[in-house]
This record gives sequence, structure tokens and C-alpha cells, in this order.
Amino acid sequence: MTEDSATAAARADLESWRGGVWRDRLENDPVFLRLLRRHLGPGYAELEPELRRLAEASGAALDRLVIESNRDENLPTLQRYDPDGRPVEAVIFHPSYHAAGRVFWDSGVLSVLGEPGSELLSGARAYLLDQHGEAGHACPVACTAGAIKLIRMLGTEDQRTRYLPALLARDYDRRLHAAQFVTEIQGGSDVGLNACSATPEPERPGWYRISGEKWFCSVADAGLFVVSARLEGAPAGTKGLGLFLVPRTTEGQVNGFALRRLKYKLGTRSMATGEIEFDGALGEAIGPTDQGFRNLVGIVLDASRVHNALAACGILRRALVEAEGYARNRSAFGARIFAFAPVQEILARMRLRSLAGLATTFRLLAMTDRCEGGEGDEALVGARRIGVMINKYWTALAATRSARDGIEVLGGNGTIEDFSVLPRLYRDAIVIESWEGTHNTLCAQVLRDFAERGLHRAWLGQISEELDAIARPELEDHAGTARGLRDDLAARIEPLLGEEPDSAAAKIRAVVDRMCRLTDLSALMTQAQWDLDNGEGEDLLPALDLYRLLEIERADPADRPEMTALNKAIAAGL
Ligand SMILES: Cc1cc2nc3c(=O)[nH]c(=O)nc-3n(C[C@H](O)[C@H](O)[C@H](O)COP(=O)(O)OP(=O)(O)OC[C@H]3O[C@@H](n4cnc5c(N)ncnc54)[C@H](O)[C@@H]3O)c2cc1C
Repeated sequence: MTEDSATAAARADLESWRGGVWRDRLENDPVFLRLLRRHLGPGYAELEPELRRLAEASGAALDRLVIESNRDENLPTLQRYDPDGRPVEAVIFHPSYHAAGRVFWDSGVLSVLGEPGSELLSGARAYLLDQHGEAGHACPVACTAGAIKLIRMLGTEDQRTRYLPALLARDYDRRLHAAQFVTEIQGGSDVGLNACSATPEPERPGWYRISGEKWFCSVADAGLFVVSARLEGAPAGTKGLGLFLVPRTTEGQVNGFALRRLKYKLGTRSMATGEIEFDGALGEAIGPTDQGFRNLVGIVLDASRVHNALAACGILRRALVEAEGYARNRSAFGARIFAFAPVQEILARMRLRSLAGLATTFRLLAMTDRCEGGEGDEALVGARRIGVMINKYWTALAATRSARDGIEVLGGNGTIEDFSVLPRLYRDAIVIESWEGTHNTLCAQVLRDFAERGLHRAWLGQISEELDAIARPELEDHAGTARGLRDDLAARIEPLLGEEPDSAAAKIRAVVDRMCRLTDLSALMTQAQWDLDNGEGEDLLPALDLYRLLEIERADPADRPEMTALNKAIAAGL
């Protein structure tokens, strides 16, 4: 069949879009590079060649592997027994899964964590990798990063020597990767209901026998499990929980567990999530056994929540790149769809979410590096703790919105699994909304931290410090708005803490929303000021203008006609 010229042109347009997705990947993401230069200072020079190497090694090549490993017929499968009937409890992956994993590990995303204060160096790599969605490896990287931190901070000398070198390995084929098993069928958000038990092993002090069922076990193929369990005789609730390191095998044999089945999931499908039954698995305590929940939240989940935000930033960026490129290449009614104001409006919102997510997430990475470098006083540590929780919530929500918006820009093609990555990003985004703490769980923890530890004062103090540092006249107006928001928040939080728990719980999410908007504004302004001071351009100023109109004033374009021009400029890129 010969094609008419319009049909041939439509196909050529799609080809042109596909060919351009990864072009000048770093140069086309200037705010990412400027954020790194601001936060890292001279350290940036060392990172840049690594990022260029990674950009080269990932991109279209990594996409192909991830698309392959996510095909229905290539998803992981369970192999419980070897051919002779011995239990192996193994997960079998398609070769493309391992090929993708080599790109992840070889990037150094984990190996750089050997030195405390390397979160920016690791996070920059994770952001590039996470533009492929979960890709089967973002979760294993997050869990391994959490285990590294846990063992580095709480491990005995012997535990550090035994585990850290392999957890930090850059070679995928020699890696030890970790998982974290907390959730039980009766206790997801309500972790205090955990029933898995830990019985002391009489012959080996510090070692325990772990028994019971874990209901959501991602990275089911991991070599090392971090498991929460209750010691015999320990109190009920979260106070009675300890944390344990459980190796997958002992003396070459399966270490007392059975992988009942793999979950049939909405998203993150090429990564294996199982249900595991422990029956006397040998595990060693990590940290004091009466501080397990505290260390779980403060170290393990904290690390995963930062990675969750990086995954969201990756999705936010990729959805934007897909949609913007598509709009520039696709024609309808005689024009590129990019020329239509409603399309520009969607793209502008997507870019704003991407910029805000990057600015707030890299702000947190920098705060972590300061804390790990010994600069963090109690106030910074407290402000960061709250920041990690609210940023996980806000960026995960934004990722789902942008993946959905991207699908809208692609129209019907956006819903087709083998046309673009967007359907997979959308499914992954919904998963990252719920793991590592659902929205309500995070908001409830923020409320508890305010009421019991007064951390709202640390959080407000940190934001105030950032706002006080804004001195450029170009930003004066925005800084005034932000200070007003800060005062309004302070006035809302204090009375909340005196209310009945149910009443306060009904109001905290709206407070957290305001905190997130204020953090977005503050993080974007701080970067805009650095850009202005360093002659790096004024492109974040219109982004701030639009952010304020959309998110703070909730303006209607009929009342604020300047929004149309702002949408057009921001859709076109920074
Ligand atoms: C793909 C996938 C992989 C996962 N992998 C792991 C893993 O490797 N390890 C692990 O430990 N867990 C894992 N999880 C589990 C995940 O962390 C839990 O699903 C999550 O913590 C929520 O628990 P739940 O599913 O039991 O929901 P529930 O606790 O039943 O919550 C259901 C709803 O009720 C709300 N809710 C609960 N309590 C309150 C309250 N007090 N106030 C207001 N609202 C409330 C929640 O916010 C949620 O919206 C995974 C989940 C998924 C989807």
C-alpha cells in the first residue's frame, strides 16, 4: 500500500520525536546542572565527567533494556526448588534485567556512598537513572543505600567489615544488594502490629531466629534482608520492635525462609516483590533491639524516602521530555500541537513540577551532606527530617500528575504500552505514592514530630533562614509572599498541637500542602538568586511568577491574562 503524503509525514514526525528524546540530555536540563554547581561548588568538576559518561551509557540504550525486561513474558518468575528438589527460593530474571542493572551499579550510584556526605553525588546519578522509571533497579538501589547507611551508622566493626565492601561494590555481578521487610498483612501503616518474632540464639550472642510472615517483600532476590521483628517478651506496639540483618543464605543453604509467591503488580513490575514466610531464619541484631522502630524510621525509611523523591524527579523530567518533544513534532489542524495554548499550559505545569521537585530534593540532599559532614546541628537535623517526609509526599503526587499529563499530550498514543514509556511511568508513579509511607502516614508522622518533638520550630527556622538570605530586588516580591506564607503556617501549626487528636489529624494534610508550596517557593528562589548572582540567567523568574499564580493565588487565566504568555515561555523551556 502506498501512503499519502500526510500519512508519511505523520510517521516521519513520530520518528523525529523518538530520535530527539535523549539529544543533549544534560544541556537540555540546565537547572539540574546549576543546582549541582551551586550545591557542590568545586566538587562539581569531579562529578561532571561521571554524569556525561552515565548519560552516554543510559539514554536510549537503557530504555531498550528496560522495555524488554518489562514485557509481560519477561517479568521475573519464582523458582522454589532446584532440579533435585532442594529449596533454592530463587527469582529468575530476563537477561535484559541484569544488563540494565549493570548500568545502574556501574554508574557509582551506590559505590560513592562509602564516604559520608556523598548524597548529592549519588542523587545526581539516581536522577538520571530514574528517568527510566523504576526500571527494576531503582528500588534495589534505594534499599541498598538504606542498608549501607544503617550499617555505617549502627553496625559493629565486624558487621561493617563483613557487609559494607560488597554493598558498596560497583560491579553488578559481585554486588550484595539489600531489601527491607517491614510490612505484614495486618500491619502496613500500623507497623506496631508487626508480629514477626525474634528468638535469641543461645549459642551465638547477638543472633536471633526470625519467624513469621512478611506481606510485601520487594527485591525478593536480595542477598541481605533488613527485617523488623519483635523480641520475645518485648512490649506491644512499635516500642517492642528490633531490626535484624538476615542473610539470604547461610552455609550455602536457604536461610530459613520460603518465598510463597511474587506479587502481580500495577507498577514496578520488573522488580520482584514477594510474600515471604520466615521459619527460624538466622539474623543478627543491628543497633539496640529496643530502638528498632526509631532506627527504621530515622535511617532506613528516611533513606528510601529520599530515593523515592529522586525516582519522582526522574519521572517528572522524563514525562516532560516525552511530552514536550512530542508536542513539537506532532501536527493537528495544520499546526504543531505545541502551538496550541492549552497544550502549552499543560507543558508549563509539567515543567514547573519538575523544577520544583528537583530544587526541593537537591536541597534535601545538600542538607544531608551537611549533616553527615558534621555541620548539622539539632535544628538542621530536625528540619531535614520533616523535609524528607513532606518532600516524599509532594513529589510522588506530582509524578503521578505529570505522568498523566504527559499521556494527555500524547493523546491516544499516550495510552499505548509499546508506543512510549509513559504508561509504565504512570503505573510506577502510583506505586511510589504508597510505599515508604502513604500520604496520610507521612502527614501523621509530621504531626507527631511537631507535637512530641517540637520539630515545627526547626522546620520554620530553616525556611526563615533561607528566606532571610533572599536579597535580590528581582525576588523581593516573591520573598514577601513566602514570608507571608511562613507566618500564616506558624499561626496554623501552634493551635493544631493543642487540639484533640482526631481534629488535628483532619487538618494536618492541608498544613503539609502549604509547607510543600512554601518549600517549593523557597528552593526555587534560592536557586534563582544564585543564578542572578553568578550571571547564569533569569529564566527561573518567570517560573516563580507562574508558580505563585498557580499554586499560591490559584489564579484564573481569565483574570490574569499574563498567564498565557508565561505558559508559552515556560513550555518552551528554560
Ligand atoms: C509494589 C509495592 C512494594 C512494596 N514493597 C515493600 C517492601 O519491600 N517492604 C515493606 O516493608 N513494605 C513494602 N510495601 C508495602 C508498603 O510500604 C505498604 O503498602 C504501605 O506502608 C501501606 O500499608 P498498607 O498497604 O497495609 O496500607 P494500610 O495501612 O492498610 O492503609 C490503607 C489506607 O489507609 C490509610 N491510613 C492508614 N492508617 C491511617 C491513619 N491513622 N490515618 C489516616 N489514614 C490512614 C493509608 O494512608 C492508606 O491510604 C510495598 C508496597 C507496594 C505497593
